[in-house]
Amino acid sequence: MAAAVGVALLLAGSLGHRASGHPPTPSAAASARTAPRAAADTGGARGSQTRTQNAAVARLASYGLPLFCGGRSKRLVALTFDDGPGPYTRLAVAKLRRHDLRATFFLVGKQIRAYPGLAQLERSVAAFGDHTLTHPFLPSLPNAQMVEQIAGEQTLIEHVTARRVLLFRPPYEGRSPAVDREVRRLGMLDVLWNVDSADSLGANYAAIERNVVSGLRPGAIILMHENRGQTIRALLSIFAALARDHLQAVTIPELIERDPPSLAQLRAGGLGCATKLKPGSGG
Ligand SMILES: [Zn+2]
Repeated sequence: MAAAVGVALLLAGSLGHRASGHPPTPSAAASARTAPRAAADTGGARGSQTRTQNAAVARLASYGLPLFCGGRSKRLVALTFDDGPGPYTRLAVAKLRRHDLRATFFLVGKQIRAYPGLAQLERSVAAFGDHTLTHPFLPSLPNAQMVEQIAGEQTLIEHVTARRVLLFRPPYEGRSPAVDREVRRLGMLDVLWNVDSADSLGANYAAIERNVVSGLRPGAIILMHENRGQTIRALLSIFAALARDHLQAVTIPELIERDPPSLAQLRAGGLGCATKLKPGSGG
């Protein structure tokens, strides 16, 4: 934990562009000017994270409710990869790039440090989410450590990738009122899923493919893990199924911008994702 606190102290103020309640400081503004890669975030190129996407995520985050799926009115889905970066990151990025697909990576701080350069590599195909510094079960931590795990990781990813981090996913689905409050205070949206690949339960590539493909519907948010060879092996079949169903894989911010859930759907939690649309019916 001392190392984690050290990182947070080192990085404190390096990016001050938090959501509400955290106005940029003069030093943060100066720092942003010296980070040329951040400029890409204001453009509309594929793979970038636009201001309108950030605004859409911030608006949804202000409700303080977790997201399980998108609005289901457009033929969009979100592939999400937890726990990286790691040994399969280059392969995953190459596959996504080759098929012109986008994904969301929920990164862990200790992995970012163990695999330097890989989070930056993911920028061209990814949006990023906070998955804590060391992947603990947050509800069992003392409050200060819980805060450090979440806030420290948000700062670390923003420093390394020059991207705003407005998404959070709790390790082991470990939420509590205190965790939810901290995520909201930091301007982030809690992102869960409505389709579980079951790769973290040891499913092989054929079962992962089956689990994902059977859940492919407009608005689906699909849970996968980046450091599993069986998951990476299943990707091409999953991509083929997306093409067959005329579904586009986008990042979570793009999904929220183009097809956000209604407030009623958000309030319904996972049950708000139940509607099934036939291929071709979703616009
Ligand atoms: Zn995880």
